[in-house]
Amino acid sequence: MSFQIGLRLEISYLCSKTQSVPMDILFASSEATPFAKTGGLADVAGALPRELSRLGHRVTVFLPAYRSCLNSGIPIEPTEIEFEIPLGTKLVEGNLLHSRLPGSDVTFYLVNQPDYFDRKHLYTVKGKDYVDNCERFIFFCRSVLESVRMLDWSPEIIHANDWQTGLIPALLKTEYVGTTTFENIASLITIHNLAYQGSFWHWDMLLTGLDWKYFNWRQMEFYGQLNLLKTGIAFADAISTVSPTYAQEIQTPAQGCGLHDTLQHRSDELTGILNGIDVNTWNPQTDPALAANYDVTNFEAGKSACKSVMQKESGLVEDPNIPMIGIIGRLESQKGWSLILPVMKQWLETLDVQWVVLGTGQADYQAVLNRLKRSYPDKLALTLDFSNEVAHQIEAAADIFLMPSEFEPCGLNQMYSMAYGTVPVVRRTGGLADTVVNATTETLADKTANGFSFQPFTVEDLESSIALAVDMFVNDRSTWNQLIETGMHSDWSWAASARKYVALYKQTVTRKLASHQTV
Ligand code: ADP
Repeated sequence: MSFQIGLRLEISYLCSKTQSVPMDILFASSEATPFAKTGGLADVAGALPRELSRLGHRVTVFLPAYRSCLNSGIPIEPTEIEFEIPLGTKLVEGNLLHSRLPGSDVTFYLVNQPDYFDRKHLYTVKGKDYVDNCERFIFFCRSVLESVRMLDWSPEIIHANDWQTGLIPALLKTEYVGTTTFENIASLITIHNLAYQGSFWHWDMLLTGLDWKYFNWRQMEFYGQLNLLKTGIAFADAISTVSPTYAQEIQTPAQGCGLHDTLQHRSDELTGILNGIDVNTWNPQTDPALAANYDVTNFEAGKSACKSVMQKESGLVEDPNIPMIGIIGRLESQKGWSLILPVMKQWLETLDVQWVVLGTGQADYQAVLNRLKRSYPDKLALTLDFSNEVAHQIEAAADIFLMPSEFEPCGLNQMYSMAYGTVPVVRRTGGLADTVVNATTETLADKTANGFSFQPFTVEDLESSIALAVDMFVNDRSTWNQLIETGMHSDWSWAASARKYVALYKQTVTRKLASHQTV
């Protein structure tokens, strides 16, 4: 039996046996809805703690006190916790604010340092990273552990997320080792996207406060730079990522973003747990952003009303029979824009198909989309902005949702789409491969098909896959509706994933305690 299978069996065993014993979990993240969001990590950091708390666990989330948190309207109070964090040759003061995830028992501690975090954006300004990002997040990591010390609290596990929190496992295993509060705290790091690694010039090693001996190719160094994600992977007691397929892919040279060796080296501790979606926010039956609410029993009428409003308000031709393709996401190469734009251009010219696009990102993609919008205003609706409301409206109005990602750790939009009765067309990679079942004779017969997928990353393969979807929408509405029903009936909620995280936490804590006993 391979280790992966062994690990999965162990997790499912633990899932059934030990779920009920409450755990004390510290969750550290650089973003979390509804406080601060740039992408999928925020959705996870808002929804997973809520679900863990619902299962009876005590969850405390640490987040930087960004301007968006302070302006969120969610009640935030001061605490007595104040600290001075060493960063290279200086000491930087900060303090802790207290809040609560609305509608839950989840405590949020916001690390307050206005110079670092009271800024308009989270990580970038005018498309460029803030020059002090390394310093900001080293400060954040150290503040989390100092707060734990000052609160005199010993959580069983610290769940770190992405490079911004990658230093926490390293600090636990080095500076904080041997102190009673920290001795038994296990650490897990989740990789939400391996493409973002927090790589900085080597002199930033001085900011970490750690000895240069850790700046080696097995731990913190990566081609001469300080790499904070690699640091987290090297030092954490366990590593997870956000889908089983991505957990395999990132161990290959093709998709390992240079870290495949590091990940292979720790493959015994690496597992993939699929993200869920927040079914309270993403529910077409109750969604306040929609022109009409619907469920699986009346989706035809509901979606048609939403589509009609979208067409009217966006200046598209008002016709329920014209296929509408929705796209929501970052305008970055990862999301497959090099495939989408040629097909879109060609189809706008020749076919009666509508495109509804919402996104922010690269200026070159924005320029092409703006040009296409000017040429085809009644076939292309374009919102180059970040808007939750429009995202919800597109999920309801579109017939097809397009997500031909070059790589996709998990992806949330394909699951939102299926919940909203919108058929996904995706590239078979990462979490897209784990959630979308391509419509074939077999999968249609056994009613597992819920969308369309293709593998080779080419314009031709994308075009054939969308063409199959459009053909089915236009010519075979009953099979189309079968795909919709299969998607809408699926359970994309966090409940199952949260149980898997609890099992992984318990397994990691148990191993950590066992390793202490054998030392
Ligand atoms: P990633 O994390 O790689 O950006 P995901 O599909 O995992 O991709 O998650 C992206 C999240 O951000 C989804 O909730 C999606 O709806 C949202 N999103 C992305 N771009 C926009 C936008 N321009 N406006 C509103 N929501 C957006």
